[in-house]
Amino acid sequence: MRWKAFAGCLTLLGLTLTAAPAQAHGRDPGRVVLGAHDGWAAATTGTTGGAAAAPGDVHTVTKRSELAAALAAHPGAPKIIYVRGTIEGNVDDQDRPVSCEGFADPAYSLPAYLAAYDPATWGKVPPSGPLEEARARSQANQAKQVVLDVGANTTIVGLGPATLHGLTLRVIGDNVILENLHFSDAHDCFPQWDPLDTADGNWNSEYDNLDLVGATHVWVDHNEFSDGGNVQQPSYYGRKYEVHDGLLDIVNGSDLVTVSYNRLREHDKTMLIGNTDKPTYDVGKLRVTLHHNLFSDIGQRAPRVRYGQVHVYDNLYLVPDPADYTYSLGVGVQSKIYAENNFFRIPAGLPLGQLVHYWKGTALHATGTLVAQGNQWPRPVDLLAEYNAANDPDLGSDVGWTPPFVERLDPAWAVPALVLTGAGPGR
Ligand code: CA
Ligand code: CA
Repeated sequence: MRWKAFAGCLTLLGLTLTAAPAQAHGRDPGRVVLGAHDGWAAATTGTTGGAAAAPGDVHTVTKRSELAAALAAHPGAPKIIYVRGTIEGNVDDQDRPVSCEGFADPAYSLPAYLAAYDPATWGKVPPSGPLEEARARSQANQAKQVVLDVGANTTIVGLGPATLHGLTLRVIGDNVILENLHFSDAHDCFPQWDPLDTADGNWNSEYDNLDLVGATHVWVDHNEFSDGGNVQQPSYYGRKYEVHDGLLDIVNGSDLVTVSYNRLREHDKTMLIGNTDKPTYDVGKLRVTLHHNLFSDIGQRAPRVRYGQVHVYDNLYLVPDPADYTYSLGVGVQSKIYAENNFFRIPAGLPLGQLVHYWKGTALHATGTLVAQGNQWPRPVDLLAEYNAANDPDLGSDVGWTPPFVERLDPAWAVPALVLTGAGPGR
């Protein structure tokens, strides 16, 4: 859709998105470990995933049942899982396709749900009662198939083109590497109506393509995250029937994460780091490094941060359509974003103060930013000054830390070429 037209426009930058080359270098991609200084996941013990796996703990999987079995095998032992081809998540235990209707509880139907909880008759009250309970049972039926847990000391890597479609990988252990995968279209068949989310209410969904839940030492490298073209949804009660949640959410006290050279595209709520304002398990954690990622045609949350010391450097932000765009950097409660040398290409007329959004944070470090607006040449922009000029109260510039783990900080002018040729699977 828009992506194709937009990719064409990239030639304005003298750049093209080329087809992924074949796996290069002859090295075993399952045995790769994180560099000693490559972001927060390099802290303390570093991140090696399953690189030390014994021969019996190396698996190659081509369908959901095999992936689920490999993930469950020999817990805690170093483990390498190679993925070939497309793994479909919306299947039964014998890998036969299951439709949304197939997951539905007998007592649930969308028409009945829409009739029962219409704010015009039900009021602005969260749904409850038998139909909501049937929706929740339906969602649990789907979750049982599409959500797969990834435990400690695991590497999952695509061999050639490898897609996880309709699946949520939920990382819950320490020391995990995810590489060379296309995470596509984790969709919820049973979105829930929340009349109290915004003034107009919202349809909210459960599944992220990748979810880090209390996970530590995680390296997410050279992957692609998208809705897989599943972008057209109807509206009910005047709001989009949103079937997606995040592309990559990092929550519940997750810590020491490096997200490098990924492509994240065509999605609204992209990356949430910390999912509650309550200072429970997140204080002092949620330390994440994001570098050399492509955020293309993203609505919001690139990322949205609470609590964490998050280093955001050398990322490329492409905003093709202001109608789809809310903001990029979300400054949440006690967030400590240290943004350096990022490159933004945005439409003419988009206010520069909109690139940053206030979510109850107090400070933002943002230096070395280049912005190319409309057909203009890139120019240095002080994101913090632009935000403060347009908004009150102002954000401060001192986030209280400087990033200790940086392998290579490139100048922002080099970022478009480096990211467009280097980010994503097969690079
Ligand atoms: Ca989520
Ligand atoms: Ca101001």
